[in-house]
Parts: sequence; C-alpha cells; structure tokens
Amino acid sequence: MANASKDKSVLVCEPMSVGELATRLNKPITSVIAFLLKHGVVAAKNVVVTADVVAQVAEFFEVEVCFPEEETCGLSEFHDEVAGAKSFIRPPVVVVVGHVDHGKTTLLDHIRNTRVAAREKGGITQHIGAYEAKTAHGKVVFIDTPGHEAFSVMRAHGVTTADIVILVVGADNGVMPQTIEALEMAQQAGTPIVVAINKIDRANARQIDEVKHALSRHGLQPDEWGGDTIFVPISALKGTGVDELLEAVALQAYDLGLETYLDVPPCGYVLESRLEKGRGAVATVISRRGILRIGDLFIAGGAPGKITSMKNAEGKSIKEAYPSVPVVIAGFSELPQPGDVLRSVELTEWNKMRAQGNAPDRKTGSSAAHLTAAQQKHGAPIKLIVRASTNSSRDVLVSSLEKISKKTFSGVTVLSSGVGPATESDIVFASDTGSMVLSLDAKTETKAVRLAQDLGVTVKHFDIIYKLLEYIEELAQKDKPAETKIVKTGEALILKVFDIKNLGIVAGARVVDGFIKKTATVRIYRSNRKIGEGKLTSLQRDRNQAKEVKKGFECAFMVDKFNDWVIDDRVEFYDEVVVPESH
Ligand code: GDP
Repeated sequence: MANASKDKSVLVCEPMSVGELATRLNKPITSVIAFLLKHGVVAAKNVVVTADVVAQVAEFFEVEVCFPEEETCGLSEFHDEVAGAKSFIRPPVVVVVGHVDHGKTTLLDHIRNTRVAAREKGGITQHIGAYEAKTAHGKVVFIDTPGHEAFSVMRAHGVTTADIVILVVGADNGVMPQTIEALEMAQQAGTPIVVAINKIDRANARQIDEVKHALSRHGLQPDEWGGDTIFVPISALKGTGVDELLEAVALQAYDLGLETYLDVPPCGYVLESRLEKGRGAVATVISRRGILRIGDLFIAGGAPGKITSMKNAEGKSIKEAYPSVPVVIAGFSELPQPGDVLRSVELTEWNKMRAQGNAPDRKTGSSAAHLTAAQQKHGAPIKLIVRASTNSSRDVLVSSLEKISKKTFSGVTVLSSGVGPATESDIVFASDTGSMVLSLDAKTETKAVRLAQDLGVTVKHFDIIYKLLEYIEELAQKDKPAETKIVKTGEALILKVFDIKNLGIVAGARVVDGFIKKTATVRIYRSNRKIGEGKLTSLQRDRNQAKEVKKGFECAFMVDKFNDWVIDDRVEFYDEVVVPESH
C-alpha cells in the first residue's frame, strides 16, 4: 500500500461498496448515492464500485486520494540475488507496436508460421495471447496482440510485460502519430526498442533513410550513426530481414541479461483471461521467476486459486511452465484481469485469503460502474452494458468508450462490463436501468435474446471494435443541437411614438435593413450613441401580431423597460440563428 494510506485524510482508491465509501468519506450515504445517480450509475449501499469511481466520487467531495501501489511481480525481488538458488536466463517477451497498417499483424503471422514448432499431432494452435518462437538465437516469446492499446492496458495495471518492443514503421508511409505514441509509451516504461522498417520490398533507400531521420528526432538514434537503437529493414510480407530482426532482439535481450531463478516460489502475470465451458475462469499466464506447477496454490488479483490444469499454446496439457513461457491456467476462483500478478503462496497465506473471502470485485459481469460521463454536462449519457470475448478486449473497449464519452455531446456511461456472452441478468439490468447491451465478438445467450425482445432491450453485436465505437459515437452526438450564434438580423427607424391607453408606449417604425423577429433583443441608438437596450415584448404589423417583419415594411413594437422613444431613433435587432456545421 502507498504510505499515504496511513494518513487518515487521504482515501485509498480501491474497489469498495457504496456504504463503505460513504463511511470513509465521512459523508451521508444518500449524498454519495445521489452523486452516482446524477451520473447515471444506479448503485445501492452494497454495490461495489471500482477504484476509478471511488476516485471520482472523492474528487467531487474534495477528499484527497491515492492509489495503492501495484504489486510488480516482485520486480525488486527479481533483481535480488537468492542465496543458493540457481540462476536461469529466461527468453525475452516481445510486443509489436506501431501505426495501423504498417504491418504488425503480418510480421507476427510470419514469425508464427515459420518459427513456431510444428504442431503436435491432433493439437490445434489456439489463440492464447502469446506464442513462443524458436530462433537461431534461442526462444523469443511474442505477445500476439498487436497494437499499443493492449500494451497500455497492461501498463495501467502496473505490470510491464514486455522486455523488448519492436516498433514497426512502414517505410512507404513513414513515421505516423501512432508510431510516436507507441515509442513514447515504450520510452516511458523504460522498455528498449528495436525498430523494424517494414515494406522494404516496395520502398527505396531514401524512404528508409527518412524513417531513421524522423525517429532520431524522437530519441532513437540508429546504431550505425553512433546511437544505441538497432534499425532492421524488413519485409514482413516476404520474410526478408526477419532473421536479422530476431537476431537484433536476441542481442538486445542479451544486453538486458534477463536473469531469473527457477527454484523459488513462482510469480508471474496474467496476460488475458476468459471463461471456458467446463473449465471456468482460465487465464494466459507468464511466469517471471520460478516454475509454475500443477497443484500450486496462488493468489491472483487478490483472489485465491489453485493450478488445476495447464495447457500450452497447442492446447497440450503440461505439468510445469518455465519463466517466460505462456501457458493457460485453470483454477481461478475469480476471473483475473490482464496485468494481475499471480503469486504462488504457502497454504497458511492461502487459507487466510480464502477465509477473508473478500477479494476485490472482479467477477464476470460485475456491476462495477465506470463514471465515463462524469464530465458531461449536456445530454443524458447513453447507458451501456458491454460484453467482450476476452478480458483484454473488454478493457480496451471500456477505455475507448471513456474517450468517446469525453468528446461527445451526450457521453456514455458503462454500467457494467463483462467477458463472455450477455446473460438474462444483463438484459434485466439493462431493462431496469434503460441501458443498451453491446457485445464485441461475444454472442448473447439464446434465452437472453428472447428476453431482450420481450423487454424491448436493444442488443447490438459487433465483430470489429472500430465499428462499435463509430456506432456509439454517432449515437452520442445525435442530440447535439446545432450551434447558434447571436447575430444582427436587421435595423429599423422610429417614425412615430404612440401612447396607448392600458398598454403603454408603442414605437411605430420602418424596417430599413434585413428583418426583425418577435424573439429579438434590441439596441437603441440616438445620433449614433447607444441609449438603451432590451427585449421585444410585442411586434405588430397592420394591427396584428407578427412573428417577423421584413425590410421595407412598417411595424409597431414595444421593448421591455424602454419607453423613451424619439422619432429617428435607430434600432438594431439581434437574434439567435443556427450556424451551419462547417462554420
Ligand atoms: P497492422 O495494422 O499494422 O497489423 O498491419 P497489417 O499487418 O494488417 O498490414 C497492413 C497491410 O500492409 C496489409 O495489406 C499487408 O499485406 C501489407 N503489408 C504488411 N507488410 C508488408 C510488407 O512487408 N510489404 C508489403 N508490400 N506489404 C505489406
């Protein structure tokens, strides 16, 4: 825990019930519930809210907060020598990042197709989020979800999974915004970068050189220019240069000296997790130190578990997993999240944790609400219940929706998010809260589909995250009113002044420019000096009420709190008009 947690005036942001939150804030529970309701979150006393929500409520009540320090897989321990333990050099874990369409997927596919050991007979290579590639320089583990969003989600959980980042830059497209974003993220994490200049099959030497120049302006100096970043020209499509790239990765790994121990209690991290039929919650785990073995008792994301089975990327059951080897583990009591630390523990600690039975709220479909609409002051936020196929895609989806919320008129509030098919209880929750159910690459239970029809709940399925985000963005902008501006619409000259019994002073005028509307505000000028202003209270033409009078016509009007009319006064009329979007 952060030291600050010892200070009573500072609230440690961690998942907690609404009741607990009110107590810790020293505020009436009704005020906390009212704040949550105002932001579209229906939360009773016993509902557990996420650490982010806790932080936002605390901010509203002006209570200082801190976040608990994340466990970092004993990283400090990791570097400490363990007396008597035998050291072991683990393979590097590599993540491929870069701008969209620069060839990350093609590179990962090429390496998988050419360097992953031939499948076991009958074995089916499964997507488990990472794979081990054999190279001339030893094994390299690739996280096979390209894109730095996944990388950033992991980092947000406090674990820097990758030892090395391969930054892919398409030579023909050059350095793009996401290239810079990805490289800055790696630099902030202190993860060394190897640059792959891709698509050299259709680029010339000048383009390759331009990439080097552009990246050197961002702190990546090519080693051939005396810097310490290795740049490797490749064609992911044809396979050219991939050997050299892997060699560069091995060299970088050698420099890092990825030394660890085998005969210590294992400790690793969760890469992704999902629910599997018959196996319950399973997760891809990579050990940082120690060997994971069937039967190990562990704590992951604060919840106790026991390794009941372990499978490798080919779906083959294995009994033990060495550091850096990605394996799918079953035996979690709760679905862990990407970036959660998995730590093997002794029976006494494990029992203690189990007895407490109060692990953080991490269950699938937990109603942990994200206050994504907290900053919205405009329309009512669109309430969403989201479902995704894996924990990492769920995290990416929720954080992308948060971004949309901030930039749109209505904003969105994610009331609940989960992994796996949407269930009947999601539909009931959606119906009770007026939410829409969104599913990303996750089916909806048949019973739930029927119930949704009966209750009139909208359920939408998407295969591609961008399509989903586009749809929501459009929806959240739908109610945005056209922008209006106050502009001068016309001018009139006073011709006569009437004092009408039971009514008051009425100005008779001719519209000399533009038009004037009943809704106008006016400014009155005499000899070019402004002498008054006010709102029109009535407008008549030919003794009848008028909504609008155009140039050349005569009319009569009254202005709120202004009676002092003199012939030849000039009156300017102002009104709100809709401004076309391009303005
Ligand atoms: P990602 O968005 O970064 O994962 O990019 P993709 O791997 O999906 O690649 C985008 C496009 O570039 C695809 O049409 C690929 O076939 C193409 N591409 C990728 N690598 C190369 C390459 O080395 N040479 C050429 N000519 N095309 C490539």
